[in-house]
Amino acid sequence: MKFSTPRGTKDILPAEIAQWNKIENTCRDLFKIFGYREIRTPIFEETALFSRSLGSTSDIVQKQLLNVATKKDRGYSLRPEATAVIVRAYLEHHLDKEESFVKLFYIGPMFRGERPQKGRLRQFHHIGVEAIGLTSPYLDAEIISLATQILDKLGLNGYQLKINSLGCAKDKEHFSNLLRDSLKAKVKNLCEDCRERFKKNIFRVLDCKQEGCRAVVSGLKLDGKYLCPDCQRYFIAVQENLKLLKVPFNINFTMVRGLDYYTQTIFEISHPDLGSQDALGAGGRYDNLVKELGGPSVGAIGFAFGFERLILVWGEKNPPMLPGPDLFIANLGKEAQEKAFLLLGDLRRTGISCEMDYSHSSLKSQMRQANDKKAKLVIILGEDEIKNQEVTLRDMSTGIQEKIKIKEIAEILKNKLGL
Ligand code: AMP
Repeated sequence: MKFSTPRGTKDILPAEIAQWNKIENTCRDLFKIFGYREIRTPIFEETALFSRSLGSTSDIVQKQLLNVATKKDRGYSLRPEATAVIVRAYLEHHLDKEESFVKLFYIGPMFRGERPQKGRLRQFHHIGVEAIGLTSPYLDAEIISLATQILDKLGLNGYQLKINSLGCAKDKEHFSNLLRDSLKAKVKNLCEDCRERFKKNIFRVLDCKQEGCRAVVSGLKLDGKYLCPDCQRYFIAVQENLKLLKVPFNINFTMVRGLDYYTQTIFEISHPDLGSQDALGAGGRYDNLVKELGGPSVGAIGFAFGFERLILVWGEKNPPMLPGPDLFIANLGKEAQEKAFLLLGDLRRTGISCEMDYSHSSLKSQMRQANDKKAKLVIILGEDEIKNQEVTLRDMSTGIQEKIKIKEIAEILKNKLGL
């Protein structure tokens, strides 16, 4: 019997791990520069945490939560995203008592029971940040610029940043009433899901990918007029700060992000190479969530990139690659094999990554192995070499060979490898 990965999940193979590490390390470097600290939380949580924060009428809660159920325990779900989880951890561990303003980052798998397609999986990975405890248009611009700096550092061009503001809770209510009025006459042109959304979660109509619904939405005249004067000022300040930081953006009044917890600034970074699922990452401010989950009334903002989508775009120019060892030790004969085995241990202890042949293969086959493994250098060790206390060192990229003294191997290799 043969098994394969569950639908909508993927193995990340060794050659792909180099891509994942590169992206993760680029993010980690920037997170450190921006003062974010890592947090790790369980991959499942109480289902109520998600319905309470994302909204019981959101698509994620209504259709996509994957439940974890044992005979005894029910009411747990695999996490579909991490914002609510991080706020839960922030409150549970009283992180606000350590610092009034807390900056956290996370990397990990998320789970949504969606219909799989390109860029849409059931298990995917987020890399994201949450800054909890402050409402400031400087912070909003800073966090958006962090997101774009990640892409710039990766050399990923051609992305687009869209921003919008949902305003405060009152503005959101006002906005949803405005939307209801403008969509009322067009409900019959919406898809079945959107007719339900019209009643329960009208913002989601704006996110629908169905052609008919998109046509209706593009005909709407939305202009952000639902914002109260304070929220309008705030949104303008965010835009000015983005200009100060030289972050190019477009305002998109139809972008709403259909989760209950969002307020004020929201943003999305898309890339045309992704096709219909074109969001690389997204985020926004959620000034009422901490209070909603039983904490103090403090503002917060965050974003997450979808790791697999970053790889879809960035990987075009940075294909999977198996990194090779620094050195391969080819050995011929029993005595040479023993000597090579000792040398292998000694060199590894000095920080040189090396491999050797254990199976008494011919020199030709060992050179092929070194080549297949993409070793940078090869040492050839045979009876003559042991007698003369000298080995042959071959640079695999140039093909140049030289004789070097056995006792000088470590020094010479370190020099050549720049270690
Ligand atoms: P969201 O929480 O839906 O805004 O997701 C943030 C980012 O995660 C998106 O912009 C995508 O890059 C990624 N993402 C969301 N859902 C999926 C999924 N089902 N499969 C792969 N990536 C996803």
